[in-house]
Amino acid sequence: MRPFSYERATDAPGAIAAVVRAGPGARYISGGTNLLDLMKLEIERPTHLVDISRLPQRAIEELPDGGLRIGAQAANSDTAADMRVRSRYPVLSEALLSGASGQLRNKASMGGNLLQRTRCPYFYDIASACNKREPGTGCAAIGGINRIHAILGASEHCIATFPSDMAVALAALDAQVEILGTDGAARSVPIHDFHCLPGTTPHVENVLRPGELLTSIVLPPPPAGRQRYRKVRDRASYEFALVSVAAIVAMERGVIATARVAFGGVAARPWRSRDAEQALLGRPATMAVYREAAEQAMKGAVGYGHNDFKVDLAKRTLCRTLAQVAQEA
Ligand code: SF4
Repeated sequence: MRPFSYERATDAPGAIAAVVRAGPGARYISGGTNLLDLMKLEIERPTHLVDISRLPQRAIEELPDGGLRIGAQAANSDTAADMRVRSRYPVLSEALLSGASGQLRNKASMGGNLLQRTRCPYFYDIASACNKREPGTGCAAIGGINRIHAILGASEHCIATFPSDMAVALAALDAQVEILGTDGAARSVPIHDFHCLPGTTPHVENVLRPGELLTSIVLPPPPAGRQRYRKVRDRASYEFALVSVAAIVAMERGVIATARVAFGGVAARPWRSRDAEQALLGRPATMAVYREAAEQAMKGAVGYGHNDFKVDLAKRTLCRTLAQVAQEA
């Protein structure tokens, strides 16, 4: 690990000022559950760390419209255990509890979860070509071992997936990400627009500008219907998703009145499928309808060899999740 300097910030404007003062080599650190690994491997080489883990951003607050504002420094485990989250946004609690391990969830922050990097093994192997780590060097995963890689929204420059479970639930819930800028102005970005697809610039992973600080996540009032998060992975715990689905379905007089569907493990961002939702609306809750929705959801999905199985796995995972959630609804 390379030498770096460190300071601890006590408020958000102070943290931003510290990062701006230290220049381009400065990075925020919160739980550090991903960043420290990246530093040890010299994939991330910050010269200065500004610790934001003690900022007063750990609270989960009620909003007048019935939603919740979750501070960016709230721990994943605290958020998952919060009774308001468990009762009104169970899909978020389930997604959080399916991620990482108990120890990591205690340490990892909500903001950090959204900013974690891909788990593409070639990204972590500094001997491999990787456009995300070293732009212009190529992509070793294309033509390599790409079992965990993307089937939607990828490019010839990068086929990595975004590994967060939590973000998939946030996509189904239409969450907003609140950001504080270096000029002191706050802005709010829908979760759907927060992460970038790789295109020609896979090293650009989200819309944060230099020095900006993610301050909170806003959940709108809970949607009608039942919510479920289903994660398919190679082992039962402490593993990233091969495919996951967040589904929220409300039934009315035997037909699907509202439906929200988001996938994880398939793209460089949580993948909300409006096509699948449209295919479900006003239809009876039958396996034939779920299969139609699954076909719509995977329209345009492409495998790269080792991950071809994900296309069918995503369809089946969606059908199984819809069957469960519609039955409960
Ligand atoms: Fe790098 Fe993306 Fe290719 Fe992985 S998939 S090697 S992260 S460019």
